[in-house]
Parts: sequence; C-alpha cells; structure tokens
Amino acid sequence: MTTTSNTVYSTFTGWIDPPTDVRPPLTEDLTCRVAVIGGGLAGMSTALRLAERGVDTVLLEAEFCGYGSASRNAGQLASAPGGDIQLLNLFFRKRMPAIIRLTENAAHHVEDLIETLGIDCDYEPTGNVFTAVSRGQMGRVRRVAKILRGAGAHVEEGSSRELGVPHGFVNGLREVHGGIMNPGKFTRGLRGAVLSSSARVFEQSKVADIARDGAGVVVSTPRGVVRAQKVVLATNAFAGEWDIAPKRLSSPMWVVEVETEPIDPERLAALGWTSRSGLVTQHNIMENYRLTSRNTIVCGVRRIERGKSYPLPEKSPDPALVAELADAFARRFPTLADVAVDRAWGGWIAITSTWLPIAGKIGDDVFYSVACNGHGLAQAPYLGSLIADLIVTGTPADDLRTVWIEEPKFARPMMMGRFGLRTVWAVDRVNDLINGSRRNARKGFTAAQFRRLPSRPS
Ligand SMILES: Cc1cc2nc3c(=O)[nH]c(=O)nc-3n(C[C@H](O)[C@H](O)[C@H](O)COP(=O)(O)OP(=O)(O)OC[C@H]3O[C@@H](n4cnc5c(N)ncnc54)[C@H](O)[C@@H]3O)c2cc1C
Repeated sequence: MTTTSNTVYSTFTGWIDPPTDVRPPLTEDLTCRVAVIGGGLAGMSTALRLAERGVDTVLLEAEFCGYGSASRNAGQLASAPGGDIQLLNLFFRKRMPAIIRLTENAAHHVEDLIETLGIDCDYEPTGNVFTAVSRGQMGRVRRVAKILRGAGAHVEEGSSRELGVPHGFVNGLREVHGGIMNPGKFTRGLRGAVLSSSARVFEQSKVADIARDGAGVVVSTPRGVVRAQKVVLATNAFAGEWDIAPKRLSSPMWVVEVETEPIDPERLAALGWTSRSGLVTQHNIMENYRLTSRNTIVCGVRRIERGKSYPLPEKSPDPALVAELADAFARRFPTLADVAVDRAWGGWIAITSTWLPIAGKIGDDVFYSVACNGHGLAQAPYLGSLIADLIVTGTPADDLRTVWIEEPKFARPMMMGRFGLRTVWAVDRVNDLINGSRRNARKGFTAAQFRRLPSRPS
C-alpha cells in the first residue's frame, strides 16, 4: 500500500459522512431524572435503555451523537478482552472467567442491538483472529489460547489455512463470537434510535461543568443548564475534562486507521482470506487488518500517541504514521503493495490503568463507565445499558459487578508515557526486523539488503 497526493486525511472518520440533521443545542434550563453526558456508544445505549424503561432522560453531546471513536473505530466486534491477555491473567487470574463472560455477552448484546433496531451496518459474524506474523508471536498465540480456553472463551486455534486468513500470517486463534461491521453505519443507526426515543437529545452542547447543589446535580453547557437527580458520564477518553471525574480514570490515546482504495475482487480472493475474519497481530502494540463490504482493507494502530492535556485536540493523522502503516501493509500483503491509501483518520481511545473496562459511582448520583482499551465497540454499549438497568433497578447485573469499582481511585498506568510507548513500539520493530531478517535470509536476501528496505525503524 502506498500513500499518494490523493490520500484524504479526515478529522472525523472514513466510514460515513457527518449527519445532516444535527440537533440544536440546549438553550434553556431544564430538569430531568437522568442526564447522560456524551453521545457515543456508551451514552447513546444508556439513554436509549433508560428511555425504553420510561425514565425521563436528557442526553448532552458536544458535537453530534457518534462524533467520537464510536464512528471512527476499525469495526472489529471483539468477544475477548482488550489489552495484553497474559498480563490480565497474571493480575486477575480468578476473575478471568467472569471477564470472558462479560466480553462475550457484550459481543452478543451488540449483535442483538443490530437485529432488534434493524441497523444496516454490513455486519458479518466472522469472529476475529489473533494472528501471528513470526515464530515469537506463534508462541504468544498458543499461550493466549490456553488462557482464554481455560477461562471458558469460545476460541479455535489453527494455521492460516485452517482459519481462512491470508497466507502471509503464520497461525492464529479465532474468537468465535463477534465479527466485522461498518461502525459508522452502526453508530448512525443507534443515533436514529435515540433520536426517535423519548430521550431529549441536545447536540452541539458541550458540558463545561458538573457540580452538586444539594438538590441534585447541575450540568452546565454554554447556553443552558440541566438539573438532574442522577448523571452518567459517558465521554470515554474525554472524561478527564471535569474536576468531578476521578483522577487518572483513564489515559487518552490517539489511534489511527487507514483504508485502501477499492481492490479488484480477484486480487482479494487470491489472498486466501476465506473466513473474512478481522485480524489482530500479536505485537505489543497491535496492527489490525480487516476486509470491508466495499472491497477495501482497513488497517491501523501500530503506534499510539498519548494525549498531553485536556481538552483533547481535534487531529488528523500524521502522514509519517500513515506511510508507516502503508509500509507494514505492503509487508503483510506483498501482492497488494501497489494499492493506494484512499483515506486516513484517527480517534481518541481511553486506556484504563488495569486494561480492564471499568464502571462505578462518584457519590450517590454520578455514574461512569470506561470500556475502551481498544475493545469498546462491544463493551461500551453493553456497559452503558447495564448502567441504565442499575439506575432503574438499584441492583447491578453480574457482568457489571465484574468491573465495578468501589473506590474511584486509580493507579498511574505503566508504560503509557511518551517514552514508554516509544520503547514498546521500538521493541516491536526490532522483533519485526529479526523475524523479517530470518525470513528474507531464507529467501536469499542479505542482511545489508534487508536494512535498505524502507520500513526499518528510524
Ligand atoms: C481508530 C480507532 C480504532 C478502534 N477500533 C476498535 C475496534 O476495532 N474494535 C473495538 O471494539 N473498539 C475499537 N476502538 C475503540 C472503540 O471505538 C471505543 O471503545 C468506543 O467507541 C467507545 O465508545 P464511547 O461511547 O465510550 O466513546 P466515544 O464514542 O468516544 O464517545 C464519547 C462522546 O462524548 C462526547 N463528549 C466529549 N466531551 C464532551 C463534553 N464535554 N460534553 C458532551 N459530550 C462530550 C464526544 O463528542 C463523543 O461523542 C477503536 C477506536 C479508535 C479511535
């Protein structure tokens, strides 16, 4: 894959255009039982569920519902947890079966939403595959498979041929549940459902402050105020913008995806990607690859960048990273090395200090959930709806208990500073270089020739 002068760098997403019916901002003072802040997957699901259960709900969104990572993600609906599974198992071995139950239920919850709301989002229940691109990664796949299977996950191991993934990947592990979709279309469908519900939705209404006044919670936007009995913070990576949010609730990270131009179906068929499963490599910072219904391939991540301070800036991808992603793509799919990058976009994700989704309460009246860690497409809507159920019934569902935080105190995340991220990225590149050297030596390349190839670490 190559970048060209026609590559479009977007500050929104490549999946869909922004809506043309953006709702007007809040311009009055009003009261409600529950105010939900943030119209992403979590916030829209919470508001929709509350509305379905007859609760007087207001949803406040800074731009338009779906503006955040909801519409920007890679569309890989995962049924396993995000983060490093071996580390999760090291720290939370006893909780792993409950965590797996939550993550698999989350994937099913989204599949049910697609069906019950009738959302056309090109969903394909293909599962997603943890793929190895080297011998070292093969070992990691085997260890992860053992952990996941031991915790009750539905997974299957195999060679690339057995799993129906492209020949360039060595072997892998498929999470059987979940699949791939156009997340822009999914989010647009969810937005349509919320706008048609009894929830009062105000877009272009950025919450500037959240405070208590004795009678409830006061949520201030530039032109209006909402007084609510309860508030749900569903702003994902942006949660740290207010004093009321717990310190270090999550670390905001900037992640990029790129999409190829449409590819001739015969060339795609020649890849051997018969399962169409989404792929995630076993690097410390993964690469993801997936087919789309428009005969393109979307891929991304490889490098993540920490947000320095709030408010988080609106960004478009760094051309150097897009070129690096294109170069990695060309190595994984050598027969498609000439394909051009059509578009590139990025978004803010939230990484928690434990790499687990989290949910909890601040005092008695402010609820929060952060379900990202790169896997929020399934987990954010699920936790959002469980928070709504908790508000209505007063009793948390078992899956909510699994990630419930009693005291909102969070440790500083490890290796998430600029230097840590750069080091982890460099380790991945050195491993690529070693494994690439071995492979290319076998093909007759010399080490010196290999060093001259374009993707060596700079
Ligand atoms: C490039 C990329 C690729 C990804 N790939 C995948 C993937 O393949 N699979 C997967 O499972 N997950 C993936 N993710 C993660 C997934 O998209 C997120 O976990 C999920 O969208 C989180 O949903 P959310 O509702 O919590 O947050 P968001 O969708 O980010 O929503 C937060 C909302 O809050 C609003 N907001 C912010 N501040 C305020 C304020 N002050 N007042 C009012 N509203 C405010 C924002 O405008 C936004 O609409 C990816 C993310 C990115 C960025």
